[in-house]
Amino acid sequence: MSLKVLALGGDGIGPEVVDGALRVLEVAAGSIGLKVDLSEDLLHGAAWEKYGTFIRPETLQKAHASDALLVGAVGGPRWDHIVIDGGPEEQDGLMKLRHELDVFACVRHSRAWEALLGRTPFLPDRVRGADIIVMRELCGGAMFTKNRGVDIAPGGDRRAYDLNEYSSSEIERFARVGFEVARRRNGRIISVDKSNVFMACKLWREVVEEIGRSEFPDVELVHYFTDNAIYQMCCHPTAFDVILAENLFGDLLSDQSAAIAGSLGMLPSACLPNLPKQGPVSGPAIYEPVHCSAPDIEGQGIANPVGAILSVAIMLQYSEGEGKCAKRIEAAVEGALNAGYVTKDLGGSHTTMEMTDGVIKQFRAL
Ligand code: NAD
Repeated sequence: MSLKVLALGGDGIGPEVVDGALRVLEVAAGSIGLKVDLSEDLLHGAAWEKYGTFIRPETLQKAHASDALLVGAVGGPRWDHIVIDGGPEEQDGLMKLRHELDVFACVRHSRAWEALLGRTPFLPDRVRGADIIVMRELCGGAMFTKNRGVDIAPGGDRRAYDLNEYSSSEIERFARVGFEVARRRNGRIISVDKSNVFMACKLWREVVEEIGRSEFPDVELVHYFTDNAIYQMCCHPTAFDVILAENLFGDLLSDQSAAIAGSLGMLPSACLPNLPKQGPVSGPAIYEPVHCSAPDIEGQGIANPVGAILSVAIMLQYSEGEGKCAKRIEAAVEGALNAGYVTKDLGGSHTTMEMTDGVIKQFRAL
């Protein structure tokens, strides 16, 4: 058994949290006799500084030849202003990777941890038991549209636009993965849109409805308008299970969902190119914490590594079919939190290294 992993720390706190996650991967893989064939490379700002490009063709080749990629985070004020000819994927090494690997189905997991209930913005009784997956479509919509630009009218007025467009086939393939994820959990899914206003959202609702009715009649489907979904998620976080959202709405909803965990640093994600009914994902998938590069705390050794560590857990689940080992990592995180390990973002004082050590200690004890 072997898993070919490409680790791309990226920028800011990315390399710090990826280091911790790789240590956990080594221990977890060892416990199930899995050989990890690991290579590492630079991404985005780090690649720009050394090679003058956000991602090298060699890195893309390695990505295509991998089973799984572990990405830290990319970006920062040093590179945010750089503009390169071409679509949005040319402006960002991670967007390029997502585009190239066509990992259109992003699974973002947030849950309320018992040990952290007093550290979230919610009343403990309101958030206890909340466990939410936000499915974010990752390769379409306004974020990836080629219909974008700035026009200048004769009087000098500037008009900027990024067209939000979705085809029925893009919605279909994404909805199928979302329903499959919901089927594997509690058989409930909430699709969010603004079909009261936007044409792309009307098509979204129509297609999601069709896929649900024809292929997943056992999964309960409910539609919410996005603004209401965000409001309801704050008021009744335990009422949500799996949420299905287009690219931009999913981006917003998943950060909002992080509040139930107490910190953005707690959330893992899997960016998948497919999800078969059984067995592991075929083709390379990207695993990354949901947070960005957090330049404000870069280099201080205080970043919360849990989102990256849990990304390794879901890597084993989706890319290797090792759901049991994934659960053991999640239980180790829970054990470390229960034992009092808390990083600064959650009001504690444990460093990235100490938090990682705490998780590894718990993992070994399980
Ligand atoms: P961010 O997620 O980096 O940070 C938001 C806040 O959360 C900050 O206060 C940060 O310190 C904190 N935080 C985030 N992750 C944490 C962790 N693991 N531990 C402790 N605290 C944590 O968001 P931002 O500040 O809006 O963006 C920073 C940069 O990220 C931008 O310059 C942007 O270019 C880039 N970016 C990266 C990605 C990505 O990597 N996926 C996506 C979009 C933007």
